[in-house]
Amino acid sequence: MFQKILIANRGEIALRIQRACRELGIPTVAVHSTADAEAMHVRLADESVCIGPPPARESYLNVPAILSAAAITGADAIHPGYGFLSENADFADMVEAHGLTFIGPSAAHIRMMGDKIAAKAAMASLGVPLVPGSAGAVADMDEAARVAAQIGYPVLIKAAAGGGGRGMKVASSPEGLEEAWRVARTEARAAFGNDAVYIEKYLDRPRHIELQVMADSHGNVVHFGERDCSLQRRHQKLLEEAGSPALTGAERDALGATVTAGLGKLGYRNAGTLEFLYQDGQFAFIEMNTRLQVEHPVTEMVCGVDLVREQIRIAAGQPLGYTQADVRFSGHAIECRITAEDPETFTPNPGRVTAFHAPGGLGVRVDSALYAGYNVPPYYDSMIAKLIVHAPTRAEAIARLRRSLAEFVVVGVKTTLPLHARIVEDPEFQAGDYTIHWLERFVGGH
Ligand code: ADP
Repeated sequence: MFQKILIANRGEIALRIQRACRELGIPTVAVHSTADAEAMHVRLADESVCIGPPPARESYLNVPAILSAAAITGADAIHPGYGFLSENADFADMVEAHGLTFIGPSAAHIRMMGDKIAAKAAMASLGVPLVPGSAGAVADMDEAARVAAQIGYPVLIKAAAGGGGRGMKVASSPEGLEEAWRVARTEARAAFGNDAVYIEKYLDRPRHIELQVMADSHGNVVHFGERDCSLQRRHQKLLEEAGSPALTGAERDALGATVTAGLGKLGYRNAGTLEFLYQDGQFAFIEMNTRLQVEHPVTEMVCGVDLVREQIRIAAGQPLGYTQADVRFSGHAIECRITAEDPETFTPNPGRVTAFHAPGGLGVRVDSALYAGYNVPPYYDSMIAKLIVHAPTRAEAIARLRRSLAEFVVVGVKTTLPLHARIVEDPEFQAGDYTIHWLERFVGGH
């Protein structure tokens, strides 16, 4: 097992990883920017190292500074969390080249899945169903027009290097194709330095359903069921559930069997999430994330597993020690992502938190690095807390979510707590009757 783990991240996820390390008896090193000197993840770590000024590219993305921090403190493994360097294959390579362990998949698999075209090709070869679309990158407008006519409008132009919902444009007719093509390529070049794009059929009423998998280095692969992340704004998730209100246990088992067999063949290791669109009873793969996800707690609640602990154990070479038959699903869990934003305009609202009170009680979990007096910095993602509830049934989970949201107090910055409180009261949400377009309409209508 590792002697010391450096956590190359900040905020709630840095704390989340620290907690798993502490329970395993492993000391942790926090890294931080000058803006985060007072942050909770620094206060609670065994050691901390300042790695640069506030902008992420000079601190949390500063690879030489992070590797130096590991060398100085004697850390022998690095956990990247999510975001920042978590899906950077070159970083994973460098960590290993310095004799440290990267807590995550191999650099080769990160690289493969980071290119969505390569990821789709790999999944197709493993028998995983895909969204209909171009066979690979689309070279020019002529080819784009041919592919779009073949699969039928509306179509979606997507960046091969895409992420965070950027570089994605819908064309609803041949007239709109050129514009969508141009905008998607320009956005992709600006955001990712890579303007390769591909085309997919634009599904009109899918749900976003993803499968959590975990594989060890001894050939064992299990899945921990699905999460329904259909409640999105601008292709960004706001509220997630495990399991999906739309899926039967048999559908989950069938998808899980295909995916775990495929990843076994691929030799995949550590945590991963396969994202699907689900419409008319059909799954269609869109991408794979080779890291821990923001929404992992809902899976932990229904499976009773600590996914970060599993990631660390696997990276240290330990076998899973259980099989798919041992994975049990119990009850229902819901997570709300709470951001420091105006709940109507979604404008970020950083600043000092003057009062903070987190809800508690049976089946309530709050993953947050907030405290009263904390100054939410303007430099990073605006998520300040995740509220997760777990109960025997979905209806009871919703009741628990309602009362937990009512207990939650954050004063000093605007938050999206009121938005979540409104979602919980909506009859369609309560019925589980929503697609990826539902939330846009819900927030647009207020
Ligand atoms: P990113 O990596 O930028 O998050 P994804 O490929 O994961 O991009 O897609 C993000 C979201 O965009 C999905 O959850 C879904 O809401 C929407 N989306 C992606 N592909 C399609 C599609 N073919 N049809 C309809 N919606 C899509």
